[in-house]
Amino acid sequence: MADQNALQRLFQQYGCRDFRWIDPAEIVVAQWVRLKCTFGCESYGRNAACPPNTPPVHECRQLLDEYRIAAIFRFPVAFNDADERSGWTRKMNLELLKLEGEVIAAGHPKAFLLFVDSCNICKDCAKTRTGCRNIRMARPSAQGMAIDVIATAARFGYPGEQDGGRNYSFLLLE
Ligand code: SF4
Repeated sequence: MADQNALQRLFQQYGCRDFRWIDPAEIVVAQWVRLKCTFGCESYGRNAACPPNTPPVHECRQLLDEYRIAAIFRFPVAFNDADERSGWTRKMNLELLKLEGEVIAAGHPKAFLLFVDSCNICKDCAKTRTGCRNIRMARPSAQGMAIDVIATAARFGYPGEQDGGRNYSFLLLE
């Protein structure tokens, strides 16, 4: 059973002050999200943690259903351009990875992070899972797991539409 107060203190240490506890069954997964990844996203086939290197959509749903509690983190940060956002997401995702490690160490071995945006830990992504240069650190984004981030965030009272659904991360817990 998760000690939510202790976890909340950990979240705050890592800058995740705006979050909600969620039932993963409420996370919206949709085929159209994968369609958008496949047609129109420049990370498709070029990022080792993005489609087609993530599970099929029905397996994404199954995976979420193996969890009974998760957290959604919102980061209300504005950027002047894509480069600025990319620098911020890299830094934030590295912090979130440390948080995931602490949560695992605190007795939640199933804990699994979904990054804000595509993995950009390395300057040049290896493009394949087997070639991944930081195989222990790479995580998919919520969108890469076919999650409709805007609809999910809205279910938990966030202004997903206005945020563009972009600056959210998920921590699957147990
Ligand atoms: S860790 Fe590096 S190689 Fe692996 S998915 Fe992320 S950016 Fe690509």
